[in-house]
Amino acid sequence: MTNAAPPQDPTRTGPAANAPASRNDPRKSQAAGAGEPAPVANFLRTIIAEDIRTGKYAGRVVTRFPPEPNGYLHYGHAKSICLNFGLAAENGGICHLRFDDTNPTKEDVEYEESIADAVRWLGFDWGEHRYHASDYYDQLYAFAEWFITQGLAYVDSQSAEEVRASRGTLTQPGTASPYRERSVAESLDLFRRMRAGEFPDGAHVLRLKIDMASPNVNMRDPAIYRIRHASHHRTGDKWCIYPLYDYTHCISDALERITHSICTLEFQDHRPLYDWVIEKLADGGQLPRPLPQQYEFARLNLTCVVLSKRRLIQMVEQGYVDGWDDPRMPTLVGARRRGFTPGGFRLFAERIGVSKSDSWIDMSVLEDCMREDLNASAQRRIAVLDPVRLVIDNYPEGAVEMCEAPNHPQHPEQGRRALPFSRELWIEREDFQERPQKGYFRLSPGAEARLRYAYIVRCVGVDKDADGNVTSVHCTYDADTRTGTPGADARKVKGNLHWLSAHTARPAEVRLYDRLFAVPFPGARQPRAAATEGAAVPGPGVPALVAGDDDDVPETSERNFLEDLNPDSKRVITAWVEPALADAAAAACFQFERHGYFVADLKDHAPGRPVFNRAVTLRDSWARPTGGKGASGR
Ligand code: ATP
Ligand code: MG
Repeated sequence: MTNAAPPQDPTRTGPAANAPASRNDPRKSQAAGAGEPAPVANFLRTIIAEDIRTGKYAGRVVTRFPPEPNGYLHYGHAKSICLNFGLAAENGGICHLRFDDTNPTKEDVEYEESIADAVRWLGFDWGEHRYHASDYYDQLYAFAEWFITQGLAYVDSQSAEEVRASRGTLTQPGTASPYRERSVAESLDLFRRMRAGEFPDGAHVLRLKIDMASPNVNMRDPAIYRIRHASHHRTGDKWCIYPLYDYTHCISDALERITHSICTLEFQDHRPLYDWVIEKLADGGQLPRPLPQQYEFARLNLTCVVLSKRRLIQMVEQGYVDGWDDPRMPTLVGARRRGFTPGGFRLFAERIGVSKSDSWIDMSVLEDCMREDLNASAQRRIAVLDPVRLVIDNYPEGAVEMCEAPNHPQHPEQGRRALPFSRELWIEREDFQERPQKGYFRLSPGAEARLRYAYIVRCVGVDKDADGNVTSVHCTYDADTRTGTPGADARKVKGNLHWLSAHTARPAEVRLYDRLFAVPFPGARQPRAAATEGAAVPGPGVPALVAGDDDDVPETSERNFLEDLNPDSKRVITAWVEPALADAAAAACFQFERHGYFVADLKDHAPGRPVFNRAVTLRDSWARPTGGKGASGR
């Protein structure tokens, strides 16, 4: 073993590092607690339980989440984060946050901080176990020299094209480089001079000497170091050669004494290389056993969004959205502004589970999880989004009385709040129909409805403007029907409307966000309807992924995915809200009664200048056999 062990030996750190921080800690929710379902069995839970039973790692469970700091995290990463941190926590283990920063030209500290924030926001804590692949550059270099001295690596001086051309294909073996039999001394000398900066980019690479005839292309003498005269955001100009992903990742895992290295399916064909590298090092006494074991799971494929960095960048750069944190973006910074919750993501991760085969998850599953979580946590408030004036003709002018509404119907302990009631109110325009359609139970001439928390009113007429638009609805109220007074419930009316007193309601900017894409598989050759039931939906074919490539465009894609953008994904209106909402804290979430869940915008909301974003409606308005959007049914 050489010098560069990780800063702390994780084997000695107990669960404390990832210990629950609060009652709402997600790791607690992994256990069967009050109202929480017991964890559902999956192949990873089974493997870990078995490893604990047999004592393979002496009971340790150490996982890691290894993002490349080259972009913002998306919904798919949330699955991986919940999985890695969740599995560790439910087994009293720990999960490391490791930045896989081996590509100096694409990476940035800005991304690192955003990634760390997102993991924290999801409710997870890596404690002191925050690492970087670049922490191990000295060690990785020392191991590379060791591989050369063992005759297991050589410097190849072919051009990149020549290396590529001699790699062979899936059906044809590769051919050996003319430099493959270079002496150890010569390779060592060249490698040291590569490091010293004597050669330009691309002049040489260091390759492992494995098997050019292997049926697995990854085993055909993979390159492990390349020359890159580029500054690294952490190591500066110390290095001009950088290790490649496959070599770096398995060694980083082994140095950190990871037990279960969990990654997405596209790395399956890389597992033999992963094992080869660390097995050789362990055989040579360079790494301690037991070694980490890689397991692959199916990545999240979600309908009605795109989860490829390349496409997300394109939408940001070409201005189709308002930046990375646009509430419509499937990024975690966007989700946060949207009003999606960490609890909703954790519920989602648990509900979709993990499997070894690719499938598609319908967006409605994620939205339902958000609804469920928000329903439990969000206080109720009133907002009138499309107002029309309601005048109660027999209510005294200038009088105000206070009506009480519960903050949360399932949590009486959260108290009640007072809503001023007066002669002139705002109600929703759609709560009045001059000629009521069949089954319409709200206000229409002669009809009665209850003003929630207040009185039953009867519609007695309307005012109209010159174009025939209704400008005011006139009603009379029945003073004996006030909610909460004896006998008030005696008279049954079906309509139950929300309202705001016109003299105290405050204006607010409300952004009605909806799905970013109007079709389940953006860019797919034949746009098709989303399934309406169930979690897994048949996809357009699963994404053909190359490991290390961030391009998850499905094979069948041939249209421009941008053509499938939902033109109605953002609508900005001015609404009336109850006074307390105008002074809400940024990021506070509420249910606007009968409308959905809304959050005070993290950036633009300020007390006195309220801005609310719609996270999700109360019900799924997309669930139509056509997959099209129907009128929201409330
Ligand atoms: P993208 O393909 O969108 O560019 P990436 O794989 O390049 O993402 P990384 O930073 O390399 O992003 O990913 C960090 C971790 O998140 C990896 O372990 C990766 O397997 C996992 N991950 C990425 N996308 C998904 C997804 N859609 N579902 C589940 N896990 C994912
Ligand atoms: Mg990747």
